[in-house]
Amino acid sequence: MKISKLAIDIGHNVQFDGGAVGIRSENELNYEVGTKLIEKCRAEGLNVINCTPKSATSLYDSLNQRVKAANNNNADFFISIHHNLCTGGHGSEILCIPGGRAEEAAKIILTEIAKLGFTNRGVKARNDLFVLKNTNMSAILIECAFCDSPVDMNNYNPESMAEAIFKGICKAFELNVSEDNRSTEQANYYIVVRGDTLYSIAKRYGTTVEKIASLNNIANADIIYEGQKIKVK
Ligand SMILES: [Zn+2]
Repeated sequence: MKISKLAIDIGHNVQFDGGAVGIRSENELNYEVGTKLIEKCRAEGLNVINCTPKSATSLYDSLNQRVKAANNNNADFFISIHHNLCTGGHGSEILCIPGGRAEEAAKIILTEIAKLGFTNRGVKARNDLFVLKNTNMSAILIECAFCDSPVDMNNYNPESMAEAIFKGICKAFELNVSEDNRSTEQANYYIVVRGDTLYSIAKRYGTTVEKIASLNNIANADIIYEGQKIKVK
């Protein structure tokens, strides 16, 4: 299944629509993961509609604005970012109206999140949630982790959570991600393979042996080894 326009909704974060508060506040967690996710998708050229309203006059207004943003822009798929609260619970789950693209994508994305060490609580059927019910396109709501769980909050890192969701999106929607311009971190490093010399690496990145040697504190430019992570910029 392919998409060209993705609606991303950062849950809560406006007046009358406050999130849960546990060890951390859900608003903050949703915002961290959501903004990073939007950045990642846009960096790969995906057309992202940010459905998060700037203000709201009621809870209904907040939810309705999110749905309208997705519907009016004819998004192909809708993803809402949330964090759960339930004393004693931990792990990740994705809520959707069962069947079709939503459930299919939910399973793929949840598998990626679980790889970070969060318990996979499964894809759960919810027919009663406003944003899932009223969006015209397939829609999922990701409960990334429990904001009141010490286990989850110790394991929580917004960058890796956003990256896992992004990877899931790429797999679910068959997006070809160009490995070259993934994160700046990755773009600035090169892993040495057999046959490389500092000269060949320098040439490839349009830089000099001296510059790379100094960036990496390499004393002898003749000694590099396979698998070595070299900073090139
Ligand atoms: Zn929430």
